[in-house]
Amino acid sequence: MTTTTHPVLEGATGDWEMVIGLEVHAQVITQAKLFSGAATNFGAEPNSQVSLVDAAMPGMLPVINEKSVEQAVRTGLGLKAQINKRSVFARKNYFYADLPQGYQISQYEFPIVGKGEIVLDLPGGATRTVGITRLHLEQDAGKSLHDQDPTRTFVDLNRSGVTLMEIVSEPDMRGPEDAAAYLRKLRAILRYLGTCDGNMEEGSMRCDVNISVRKVGDNRFGTRCEVKNVNSIRAVQQAIDYEARRQIDLIEEGGAVVQETRLWDPGRGITRSMRGKEEAHDYRYFPDPDLLPLEFDDAFIDAIRASLPELPDEKKERFETHYGLSPYDAGVLVAERARADFYEAVVNGAKGRRDPKLCANWVITELFGALNKGGHDIDESPITAEQLGGLVDLIADDTISGRIAKEVFAEMLESGRDAEAIVDEKGLRQVTDTGEIEGIVDAVIAENQDKVAEYQGGKDKLFGFFVGQVMKRSQGKANPKLVNEILKGKIG
Ligand code: ADP
Ligand code: MG
Repeated sequence: MTTTTHPVLEGATGDWEMVIGLEVHAQVITQAKLFSGAATNFGAEPNSQVSLVDAAMPGMLPVINEKSVEQAVRTGLGLKAQINKRSVFARKNYFYADLPQGYQISQYEFPIVGKGEIVLDLPGGATRTVGITRLHLEQDAGKSLHDQDPTRTFVDLNRSGVTLMEIVSEPDMRGPEDAAAYLRKLRAILRYLGTCDGNMEEGSMRCDVNISVRKVGDNRFGTRCEVKNVNSIRAVQQAIDYEARRQIDLIEEGGAVVQETRLWDPGRGITRSMRGKEEAHDYRYFPDPDLLPLEFDDAFIDAIRASLPELPDEKKERFETHYGLSPYDAGVLVAERARADFYEAVVNGAKGRRDPKLCANWVITELFGALNKGGHDIDESPITAEQLGGLVDLIADDTISGRIAKEVFAEMLESGRDAEAIVDEKGLRQVTDTGEIEGIVDAVIAENQDKVAEYQGGKDKLFGFFVGQVMKRSQGKANPKLVNEILKGKIG
């Protein structure tokens, strides 16, 4: 399924559409930096993870970290992308107080990864494929700290030299929902692969948003602006909404969009001009003379390909075909690898396979619902997969009804105890003894002779009343199916 409908923005002169391309900087999970052996732990004491290379001491030479290269290739394979067996590091020259080299080592004409794609999961089960233009490796810069003392700026070089992958998309997105879906999917893929932790709050995944607008039906692109400093998916959506409207108003008032870099101001909910857009030639890119071109062979790529995990799209497909789940349920489960694993552990219990749909309901609606309410991750679940499976078993073999199961589940969340222990202690086992149910049915009939007459006179709706009365008397424990059968037998 694909969507063809794009969101349309109304203007004074007609309808407009948005064109969006994203550049994501993803910090690679490695022990060491791209060209030095310094550590990369988040939150370390400032300047405690800086080698002489990172501090750009004269005469220091960069040495490529093979793990960073592997991670980039791994990510490229996860993005179904072309892996370039030969790529070149280039110097991108610019001045920043927290960039002691005076240039950033990046890749320019020859990136390590070429064209790929990401499939977006959109509301209603629709999908859209967004092209990946390229992925290249580069060094991160340091960080300027302005907060400690208003009269001084400090520089922390811990981040200097950390490996980043810049992942550039084609301008294939058409609205804030697309951009959000892209970032969620990219983050999921990176996390499945173990190449980036995807944590936007800690800055290990950062996003620049390129956006332009054009009249619906126009097949040329408009002039774009690039918005920086957008640190959450929500902020990306807000920045797109704001920026599209700004550009439309500007054009309709007779102005023109100038290509520039803008800054998202989260406090005021606006973008503002930061600097004119620099062109590639401003950076004076040239191949870094300290580094040889990066070359590897098929065996290197094949070994990495052989170690790839099942990725979200494939897992979703398998959950639909193998377990018969709806695309929606499968999508929710595979969004995080740990959640998908948890679900599969519930279905494939120690004693064999459980009903996959029943398990999906309990995992998604009840467990994820409860965890989300408390802001907890799956690995903080007070109920283990085997325990939830135990509850599902009690429902499946009619020991308890679905309604009682919710009570038991609430108690499990509180206490972390097994379902069976709770059911035994509270005497919640479902009554399946027909004699016992018949006794209750007889009592209800005896007490409601008038209603029985009405029912038998044609007021069919009253059947539910009798069922309700019997359930109430049994404290919710009578097996509903038996109650129905016995009642039918007695009052017709
Ligand atoms: P730069 O380094 O100049 O930002 P890149 O090639 O790294 O250029 O990235 C350009 C980004 O802008 C890509 O994500 C691309 O999809 C997007 N883009 C290009 N043209 C447009 C446009 N007219 N409207 C919106 N996005 C665009
Ligand atoms: Mg760029």
